[in-house]
Amino acid sequence: MSRSSAVSPDVLAAIGGTPLIRLRRASEETGCTILGKAEFLNPGLSVKDRAALSIVQDAEARGLIRPGGTIVEGTAGNTGIGLALVASVRGYRTVIVIPETQSAEKKETLRLAGARLVEVPAVPFANPNNYVHAARRLAERLAETEPAGAFFADQFDNVANRRAHVEATGPEIFAQTGGAVDGFVCAAGTGGTLAGVAEALRAAKPGVTIALSDPEGSALHAHYTTGTLKAEGSSITEGIGQGRVTRNLEGFRPDLSFRIPDAEALGIIFGLMREEGLSLGGSSGINVAGAIRLARELGPGHTIVTILCDGAARYASKLFNPAFLGERGLPIPDWLGPSTEPLP
Ligand code: PMP
Repeated sequence: MSRSSAVSPDVLAAIGGTPLIRLRRASEETGCTILGKAEFLNPGLSVKDRAALSIVQDAEARGLIRPGGTIVEGTAGNTGIGLALVASVRGYRTVIVIPETQSAEKKETLRLAGARLVEVPAVPFANPNNYVHAARRLAERLAETEPAGAFFADQFDNVANRRAHVEATGPEIFAQTGGAVDGFVCAAGTGGTLAGVAEALRAAKPGVTIALSDPEGSALHAHYTTGTLKAEGSSITEGIGQGRVTRNLEGFRPDLSFRIPDAEALGIIFGLMREEGLSLGGSSGINVAGAIRLARELGPGHTIVTILCDGAARYASKLFNPAFLGERGLPIPDWLGPSTEPLP
């Protein structure tokens, strides 16, 4: 709907309906058709606009939020941006609890989306002062003190998140491929995208292969392959990787699981940037790497879909900073480094 020539009544009507883009090199190298769903084209520039809209609509339908009320979430990024834009259209305020170690770019982007930020020290989930627990407590306090109350969005365990993908993202993929989708793969943060799209596609097309593309440092790959939640290594990608089975992942199982090192994902991101005009964030690299691995499992001639979650601009000081990459022994693309050739 959003990409049609019709006028959108508001910006929320422009969420979803994203194109599927054929990824040329990945398709040519595997003999498959590998398609990326261009979620970076959503108004808040990420896949999380869908979850944010669904969470707010669900809260409205269940009477959990009143006009002028405050939406509280603990998030370091895209969900907060999505919630802030949905809240501003629907007449709510947004308070985002964020670890103080997050990049200045992210904090600035949240402020520019209309969110108020509460910065807290960065401590692990097991610590009661972790930003997610701090957000839940803040929501409980504001529910008492704010005249129009407060609502905790709770993206990890609120299944209105997954529902957005069962009802829209999955059916869009099925319709856009004319039902000819053989495989779907993506990473999981909350797990809403993966479990939601999987549910929709498995219902529409029995036999479709669903795969998890997991970064290092996430416990899900071990969980789905050995039965133990065990994390090893670490990743510079953001928004993905998970140490527990969230409510959005409950009842879900992938057919296949891949563990993708950062260097593999980065090589793909740089290639797509340089050769295909796609300027993407790190989780998209993990996803496309997973799509290539799934293509090799299924063999030539199959159609495989993945998610292009957000854009490179959000990670300029990290993934696309030669000093940051160099310190970690990661590949630095030639055009990002200092120019050694004099210009003609
Ligand atoms: N990529 C990025 C950049 C994200 O911000 C997120 C959300 N945390 C994801 C992927 C994963 O999406 P989901 O929460 O639906 O698993």
